[in-house]
Amino acid sequence: MLDLKSQFPEVLQDESLANYCTFRVGGKADYFFKANTLNSLQNILKYAKEHQIPYFIIGKGSNVLFSDRGFRGLIIQLELKDITFHESSVTAQSGVITAVLINECIKNGYSGLEKWVGLPGTIGGAVYGNAGCNGLETKEILTEATILDPLTAETRTVKNTYFEFTYRHSKLKETGEILVDATFSLQKDVLTAEQQRAIMSEIQQFRLTKQPHGPSSGSFFKNPSPDKPAGLLIDQAGLKGTKIGDAQISEKHGNFFLNLGKATASDISQLAQKAQKEVYEKFQINLEPEVQILTETGKSKL
Ligand SMILES: Cc1cc2nc3c(=O)[nH]c(=O)nc-3n(C[C@H](O)[C@H](O)[C@H](O)COP(=O)(O)OP(=O)(O)OC[C@H]3O[C@@H](n4cnc5c(N)ncnc54)[C@H](O)[C@@H]3O)c2cc1C
Repeated sequence: MLDLKSQFPEVLQDESLANYCTFRVGGKADYFFKANTLNSLQNILKYAKEHQIPYFIIGKGSNVLFSDRGFRGLIIQLELKDITFHESSVTAQSGVITAVLINECIKNGYSGLEKWVGLPGTIGGAVYGNAGCNGLETKEILTEATILDPLTAETRTVKNTYFEFTYRHSKLKETGEILVDATFSLQKDVLTAEQQRAIMSEIQQFRLTKQPHGPSSGSFFKNPSPDKPAGLLIDQAGLKGTKIGDAQISEKHGNFFLNLGKATASDISQLAQKAQKEVYEKFQINLEPEVQILTETGKSKL
């Protein structure tokens, strides 16, 4: 694997993953690469395939739990950041931060994304998990996208239906394909910047009252159903405020697991397992993580 560094001098070695996720936990990755062009992404993927180097793609790490033991392979952070406006849509590359895209839309007279205010992470992460909030899911506005097949490093354009979006799910979770860019339908010159900012400010206020501060991954578990949100079940199991090590289930929101400062990934996963077990014992409902869990050797269940 030493050759990786000589082929790609920008590759970082023994990079702490705690710096690349909102939980602020995780050991070191053997190799870490920021792909800021499609070409560099294709080249490193080809190299990884040829040399059988395990790899894992990230955006801004707001929906991942790394392991305390790090990752024996290559983490590729997508930093493709182009934004192109069309008549009534925008194409954003996968590394574009959602908040940046919202601001660019407003600056250029487009509306349609304002409900995503406060949604952390990148467009790649949003499409991968069909992210959404305030009644707007990715699947409702994505028209088409460019995806990359990691086996061939070839790209192709696909339509919305390709992704088979369901609640917090896209087909990318099964195929391992990588999102290169996504096109979202928008409205031009319908809402003014002031109107959009007013909508966003109201949403922000709501988030502030409902969600805690501090390092987390947002909702840890998927909601089993709209009338049985995971946070409510965890609350009804009497677990709000429960701590393991320096990880805590928020007092404010039962589905937020917080790193109080010195938590390890193991503290967080033990706490999540406890919530899963106790909710199952009380309600016979199995909570499924929304967060993507990465062990030292690859993706894993809780
Ligand atoms: C405080 C807080 C609040 C949140 N609120 C919400 C919310 O309201 N609604 C919601 O849906 N989510 C929410 N989240 C979760 C998270 O922000 C979203 O899931 C976000 O879309 C993840 O983007 P990311 O770039 O951080 O992805 P990452 O965490 O970096 O990656 C998540 C997964 O996506 C994959 N991935 C990333 N980029 C690509 C790509 N280009 N191609 C293929 N796979 C890729 C990764 O391999 C990984 O499996 C919240 C998180 C936090 C911390």
